[in-house]
Amino acid sequence: MRRRPLGEADEIVTCLSPEQGKLDAVAKGSRRSQSRLVGLLEPFTYLHAQLARGKTLDPITQARPVKTFPALRADLERLAYGSYLLELWSSCLPFREPAPRAFSLLVQGLDALDRGWSPTLLCRWLELHLLDELGYAPDFSECLSCGNLVKQGWFSPAAGQIACRGCGPSAPGALPVSPRAVSAFRHLRRMALSELQGRAPTPELAAELQGLLRAHLAHHWPHSLRSLKVLESLAG
Ligand SMILES: [Zn+2]
Repeated sequence: MRRRPLGEADEIVTCLSPEQGKLDAVAKGSRRSQSRLVGLLEPFTYLHAQLARGKTLDPITQARPVKTFPALRADLERLAYGSYLLELWSSCLPFREPAPRAFSLLVQGLDALDRGWSPTLLCRWLELHLLDELGYAPDFSECLSCGNLVKQGWFSPAAGQIACRGCGPSAPGALPVSPRAVSAFRHLRRMALSELQGRAPTPELAAELQGLLRAHLAHHWPHSLRSLKVLESLAG
């Protein structure tokens, strides 16, 4: 997901593995041109890798690529969305906790971008399902205060829950939610990734879904993501 130099010739590589979750490994000599690892440690490389047990960081001893997502890398917009996914996963997942579902979601997301799927709904689906996996899925069914079923009202990023039109205005930081957004979120949670293909929300609904989920994510993971600035500059 990320690489940074270590000393003269090595690198620290932040990877995601299904079994061990997010981890920092060391790629010894990877910045020397004759290294076997050159080119294998680029972000967006799905690898089979073997790590040894190190004192602080585990060195990568062997690696071979499984998938490299070439179409995603070659297109500025897809690359920007892919970078957002890598950064989001990297910032939300804890170190060294098994993450098979989060891993599979990320690979499916990158694969869909690589195949040229529209990123709008795809990113919302991925965010929702990642949040679900982390136990932070926003609840768009019952009012956080009175418990009534809500069709439209307010969303509190702090509570991660919707509020009805009566209770919403008193929830701190609550944002308005339209009936279409409530229904879209409920559907997205239930839908399989394959069902997204060919679906496109109106620009207004897409903007609303994005704004609500970003507010929710920013409340729980308040570090600013560099990739979001890139996405905003592409949209502008
Ligand atoms: Zn209420």
